[in-house]
Amino acid sequence: AKSWTLVKHFDGFPKDGDFQLKVEELPEPNDGEVLLEAVFLSVDPYMRVVQSKNPEFPVGSHVVSNSGWRSHSVSDGTDLTPIMADWPSDVSLSLALGSIGMPGLTALYGIEEVLGLQQNETLLVNAAAGAVGNVVGQIAKIKGCKVVGSAGSDAKVAYLKELGFDEAFNYKTVPSLEEALKNAAPEGYDCFFENVGGYFSTVALPQMKTFGRIAVCGSISTYNDGTPQTGPYPHMTMIVKQLKMEGFTQNRWQHKNPESLKRMIGWLQEGKLKCREHITEGFENMPAAFMGLLRGDNIGKAVVAV
Ligand code: NDP
Repeated sequence: AKSWTLVKHFDGFPKDGDFQLKVEELPEPNDGEVLLEAVFLSVDPYMRVVQSKNPEFPVGSHVVSNSGWRSHSVSDGTDLTPIMADWPSDVSLSLALGSIGMPGLTALYGIEEVLGLQQNETLLVNAAAGAVGNVVGQIAKIKGCKVVGSAGSDAKVAYLKELGFDEAFNYKTVPSLEEALKNAAPEGYDCFFENVGGYFSTVALPQMKTFGRIAVCGSISTYNDGTPQTGPYPHMTMIVKQLKMEGFTQNRWQHKNPESLKRMIGWLQEGKLKCREHITEGFENMPAAFMGLLRGDNIGKAVVAV
């Protein structure tokens, strides 16, 4: 089996030397265990069972596991989630790591459970061309909302327009983020699906309508900070605008996953949900794919095909 190990904690942005590729012999599976082989990898790999001494996971079944950046691993099954039994044959299984998997569910639960988004409301989403963000915008369109998205390249902005976003802009090239947010929705935002944090969030909060709602999903602009950011805290804006802000992780609604995934596959098959992926070929390229994600190279979910 091959595996990628973190040899040194990142000091700022990750570097090639922070990762090491190892090769090791795995033990034969014991009773109740299965041997997994990676097919697509991301931070939440999707594997197929190649040897099984566990009747719940016959050879050839497909599962999502959290076994790390590994080509093979042995599992007793407790950390495995089987892919839906009736997964349509014309839908790529890699989407189980993206729009029809954890990132897609994150988008759905953020919208339905946290924001309670209603028809005709105006929604803002950042990192909008990413795995979570693009699904957020598409679900908001399905719900009859006005959607504004920001992303870090002109190609991403063009893709968002293709997906039906009402307004989209490149936050790296607009002369003023504040003006761009105002121009896209002069009426203000009812809802904000927050993936980025930091400066973006400081500028976006004053653009909310009174009683606006904010779902805090991620803070990717701060993940490589050597020291945690301190302020400015948006307390005054929160008070004056009487905003409601809630952080969440998608596993809070895990019990709803089977029904939610069915709904999302339905939207996919009706053509209401488009799924683009950013696929890197080869297990050896895992660190490069990961660093590319942090640089913003991906449109849609970033996966590695093993
Ligand atoms: P993406 O596919 O969106 O990839 C990350 C994107 O973030 C990049 O493509 C880049 O796009 C953008 N980005 C990177 N650095 C910065 C920066 N400094 N400032 C602004 N944008 C940046 O990743 P995911 O969809 O998987 O994740 C999106 C967010 O959701 C993350 O914050 C993640 O941690 C969070 N998340 C939370 C979950 C939960 O349960 N709460 C579950 C899953 C994800 P661009 O070119 O636009 O800059």
